[in-house]
Amino acid sequence: MALKIKPVCVGTGEIDKSILTYLHDQGTKVKVPFIVWVIEGGEKLVVVDAGPADPGTVFKERGVSIHQEDHEEPAQALKNAGVDPSEVGIVISTHLHWDHCGNFSLFPNADIYVQRRELEFAVAPLEIFGAMYEAAIFKRNPKWVNSVSRFRVMDGDVDLFPGVKLLHLPGHTPGLQGVLISTNNGNYCIPSDTVNITENWENQIPPGIHVNIEDCYQSFRKIERMADHVLPNHDMKVFDRVAYP
Ligand SMILES: [Zn+2]
Repeated sequence: MALKIKPVCVGTGEIDKSILTYLHDQGTKVKVPFIVWVIEGGEKLVVVDAGPADPGTVFKERGVSIHQEDHEEPAQALKNAGVDPSEVGIVISTHLHWDHCGNFSLFPNADIYVQRRELEFAVAPLEIFGAMYEAAIFKRNPKWVNSVSRFRVMDGDVDLFPGVKLLHLPGHTPGLQGVLISTNNGNYCIPSDTVNITENWENQIPPGIHVNIEDCYQSFRKIERMADHVLPNHDMKVFDRVAYP
C-alpha cells in the first residue's frame, strides 16, 4: 500500500506573525493550527507530533488561549481521520516544545522517536527557552516525562522503515527532526517548525524562534536536496487537502 500523509487539526491559536517568520510583520496577528500528522500505509501506523495539552491546562499553566472545537479534541480528531490511537506503533517527536508533545499518553502502544540532542536540550535549555520546553529545571512540568520509558533516542538521520526517514533539521531547536516520506508522487517532507508557513519556504525566511539561524538555512538546503514537496507545520492551508499525495 502506498504511503499517505494526513494533517489532523487538534486546535488553533492566534500569535504574532513574526514568531513564524523572523523579523517579518511584527504586530500582525495570525491564526495557526496545531497539527498531528498521520502517516498511513507503511509497516507501522505513524503519527508525527502529538499537539499541545488540553486548552484548560494550557491556559492555567501558560495563560495561552487555544481554541479547540469538539471535533478537534485529539482522540476525536484522530477517530474522524480513521485512526485508532491504540494502533499507532510509532510517534515521531519532531522536537519537545510544549505545543508538540502534550499528548504522548494518547498513544500507549507507540515507541516515541526523539533526537538525543533534543532530549539533552529539553532537559537543560537556555533560559529564554525554559517556558517553551516546560523545563523542570525552571520549575515546570514537561508533559513528556511520563512517557520517557517509551522514548527511542536517535542520533541524526535514520531510516525508520521503507519510505519513512527521520531527518535531523537543526535551527529552530538543536535536535529538531523532520520526516521524509516517499510516496507515489515523490518525496514529501514534514519539516516541523523549520517551515512554519508557506512563506518561510517560498521566501526562505527562518522561523522567528530559533537557536541557530545558520543551521536554519542549512536545514532549508537539506530539505531542498531531498524533498519534492514541503508541508508547513503551522499553516491553515495544509487542510485544503485531506491527504497527501
Ligand atoms: Zn517549536
